[in-house]
Amino acid sequence: GSLDPDQPAIDLRMNAIKHKILVVSGKGGVGKSSMAAALSNGLSTKGKKVGLLDLDICGPSQAQLMGVDGEAVMNTEWGWKPVVSPHTGVKVISVASLLASGEDSLAFRGPRKTALIKRFVKDVFWGRLDYLIIDTPPGTSDEHLTVVKILQNTKPDGAIIVTTPQSVALATVRKEIDFCSKMRVNIIGIVENMSAFACPCCGEVSEIFSSGGGERLAEEFGLAFLGRIPIDPSIAEHGEEGSNLVAASANTTGSQALLKTCDNV
Ligand code: ADP
Repeated sequence: GSLDPDQPAIDLRMNAIKHKILVVSGKGGVGKSSMAAALSNGLSTKGKKVGLLDLDICGPSQAQLMGVDGEAVMNTEWGWKPVVSPHTGVKVISVASLLASGEDSLAFRGPRKTALIKRFVKDVFWGRLDYLIIDTPPGTSDEHLTVVKILQNTKPDGAIIVTTPQSVALATVRKEIDFCSKMRVNIIGIVENMSAFACPCCGEVSEIFSSGGGERLAEEFGLAFLGRIPIDPSIAEHGEEGSNLVAASANTTGSQALLKTCDNV
């Protein structure tokens, strides 16, 4: 392909990061962003240095999920300085934090999205990290193509696919798997979210949707099954508050399932 003059600067930044993991989903609303946030917090809780990059340019949610809503990215001599989660120290970059620093939202439309994603990798002072978790928009869009291309020399470890157990969601996952194999992106495994409802009062688990679809799909494609996460109101609550759902003190069924899933990554 054509030589990108920015590639050496991109590679320099990305070479300082040991593991780069994409979090993807076939459709929206399946809990992909919540999973990316929980994974970041979970790895950080285990003592890893973690960054979280929100590539959802039009619908960024990580600033809120990570408890840094309204905080601005600072421009320093080393580049854009990510905002830092007060709960876990995870470094977060999203369009929301750029807007908070007074950047013009018009600059993030259409083809400029590609340029922006490049800046998120090239111009952000991530420093040395064990993990960079990359939350992507639902489906397979330009953002995915762009980031895979940008990381061509510093290969991501792969993608974690998040799905709910219903067949509509599972059908879109097949496309996601297809995309990853075409782009030569390794698939780390599948997470099934909202598998069942765990009652916060009595702990009884009811299967609201069918369950096990994610696991069967993983089997069909010979992929790892990373975990099954129940519907748990505390997951939504922590998301609203931007607090750390997988903190050692949290002991809901949801947080425990998430922690276990982090261990499998
Ligand atoms: P996506 O990134 O796939 O669009 P989100 O992570 O934004 O999905 O989740 C969508 C909504 O569902 C959010 O309000 C979130 O708090 C909630 N949610 C996600 N997973 C669960 C779960 N296991 N139990 C309860 N609520 C959940």
